[in-house]
Amino acid sequence: MKVTEYFEKANGKTLISFEILPPLKGSGMQDIFKVLDPLMEFKPPFIDVTYHREEFVYKRRASGYYEKTAIRKRPGTVGICAAIMHRYGVDAVPHLICGGFTREDTENALIDLNFLEINNVLALRGDAQQFESKFEREPEGHEFALDLVKQIADMNQGKYLDLDIENGQKTDFCIGIAGYPEKHFEAPNMESDLHFTKKKVEAGANYIVTQMFFDNSKFFDYVERCRQAGINVPIVPGLKPLTKLYQLSSIPRHFFVHLPNDLVDAILAAKTAEARQEVGVEWCIAQSKELKAAGIPCLHYYTMGDANTIRRIIEAID
Ligand code: FAD
Repeated sequence: MKVTEYFEKANGKTLISFEILPPLKGSGMQDIFKVLDPLMEFKPPFIDVTYHREEFVYKRRASGYYEKTAIRKRPGTVGICAAIMHRYGVDAVPHLICGGFTREDTENALIDLNFLEINNVLALRGDAQQFESKFEREPEGHEFALDLVKQIADMNQGKYLDLDIENGQKTDFCIGIAGYPEKHFEAPNMESDLHFTKKKVEAGANYIVTQMFFDNSKFFDYVERCRQAGINVPIVPGLKPLTKLYQLSSIPRHFFVHLPNDLVDAILAAKTAEARQEVGVEWCIAQSKELKAAGIPCLHYYTMGDANTIRRIIEAID
């Protein structure tokens, strides 16, 4: 079923969903099941699986030359989606990015997903690679998520890249996109970011999942601004508990989000790792309860491989 159909059928009830990361190359599906098995009792209608490009570093060799070396690989998004659907009978939502894909690669990936009866995708641009100063598209690839949304919407109309294919089989993808309650870091301002978000919705995006945030007022303001801008699709808040000291700097650095003073003070005042964990869990419970009371369609948790923490949060809000 489509993600948006779950929202419609929920009749105002707040659903719970999860995002997982593919394990590093060399690990097995057991790593995924270890995270998901304890979470399935919360009956997520869908589970997102992120997509990652290879990460490279340049290593200096004895000759003095630098050699490009792959250090981290997380392959398998599509296979993991199929395995999740098979094991748990829930829908899986693969993330599809522009980076590293030509339009042809994208079309082939969508054809595979269609064959597997995976009919939800989250369409994203992806970030610049470590050695790039800004995002660089493939020569035959997309520059923005908007172009990817258009390609998926075209296939939903039976339009393939090869114009010789007339009356191609129509796919039926439900398309999710990313939204940023605190603005995407490259956007000059919120108006500009919302302008392009609206374009993605006009091109066929059906719902929005947000970047994590730690201050609910940012999310509520964002929803209001979207509605004022004429963006009327469901908006799902993405939530992640902040439970470790180093995250006080790593989260703002990687995700460009603001951390409220009360949260920062409480984490700094906590004397042990356990106490910090407790602060982060309680904060996320409070966020979740307030969002649920506000009637949002779904709470979407970034699990980051930590099922126990996510379980504690959901148990407290049920
Ligand atoms: P876009 O919509 O293309 O926007 C990128 C920037 O360009 C924005 O500043 C926007 O305002 C601007 N812009 C958009 N369209 C235009 C246009 N036509 N002309 C000019 N400017 C424009 N990354 C991964 O690599 N893998 C994942 O699995 C993944 N999952 C994610 C899940 C969620 C819920 C979120 C919020 C993010 C995820 N990301 C993932 C990160 C995402 O790829 C980055 O945030 C990326 O920098 C932007 O992606 P986007 O789809 O929002 O890009």
